Amino acid sequence: MCPQVILTDRDLALMKAIEVVFPNSINLLCRFHINKNVGAKCKQHVVNDLQKTIDTLWMEVVWASDEVEYGQRLHQLEQACVDYSGFINYVKDTWLTPHRHRFVGAWINRVLHLGNTTTNRVESAHWKLKQMLGNSIGDMVKCWEAMNNNLRLQLGNIRASFQKSFYEVENAHVSPFYGYLRGSVSRAALRRIAEELLRVDYVGTNRQICGCTLRTSYGLPCACELGRYRVGGIPIPIDAVHVHWRKLTMEVELEIGEDDGSEVDMTAAMDELWRRFRSLDVVGKRALSCNGLVRLLTSPNHICRAT
Ligand SMILES: [Zn+2]
Repeated sequence: MCPQVILTDRDLALMKAIEVVFPNSINLLCRFHINKNVGAKCKQHVVNDLQKTIDTLWMEVVWASDEVEYGQRLHQLEQACVDYSGFINYVKDTWLTPHRHRFVGAWINRVLHLGNTTTNRVESAHWKLKQMLGNSIGDMVKCWEAMNNNLRLQLGNIRASFQKSFYEVENAHVSPFYGYLRGSVSRAALRRIAEELLRVDYVGTNRQICGCTLRTSYGLPCACELGRYRVGGIPIPIDAVHVHWRKLTMEVELEIGEDDGSEVDMTAAMDELWRRFRSLDVVGKRALSCNGLVRLLTSPNHICRAT
């Protein structure tokens, strides 16, 4: 299945490959990295006093919520940069002209990205793994142990956050309006809905005023939709929430032999992989190449796959 949205850095080779392999996916770019690059360029080209102003104007371009606002914000940025053609040319040639539809609000708000607009989450996981690997690079046994510990730690954290979503109700979500969602939807989603609810007073049920970004980009009910539930006197239906926010368990599908579709706990799957690894003798472990590791993870016909 083709992913709807793929988030990357501006790695041109990778972006080209995505275009070929996943022609129907939308390749968004990580905002955090773009802003970091633009910030560094600004420091190089612009005098101290103006750096903060220009940085703010740049952020306003990035967050512009429609194309008209984008045009206005860009014009303001250009005016502020009349003496810094090197900087404004870089911003336009490297980022805005070729890639604005991949990171500027006006375009990405139309895409169901479920809140993933930076790659930081993946990178922090990668960073943590690198810390745990420490100086044991080259020793397969130690690397495997470090990766295993790292995954278990992450699983523990995710499980704890799911547990919280199950059992703890925040004050803001006590209202019967959330009745169908409590315990079935992540707290992160409930918080976004509660925030959106504040807009209902001036949006009412008007789609034009609403803009419906929360619906389009996050798969969550936007202000005008919430307004309609409120007018109708009905609680928010569970179907109004994208399945992404309803996944509060850690099950994975482990295909064993014939695809019997049996569901097992993620921890059990990792225990099984760990057991298989330990059952190899030292020579076998040392001899494990990268391909061997993949085979160990997937053989015989065992594929560990998140559902
Ligand atoms: Zn709306």
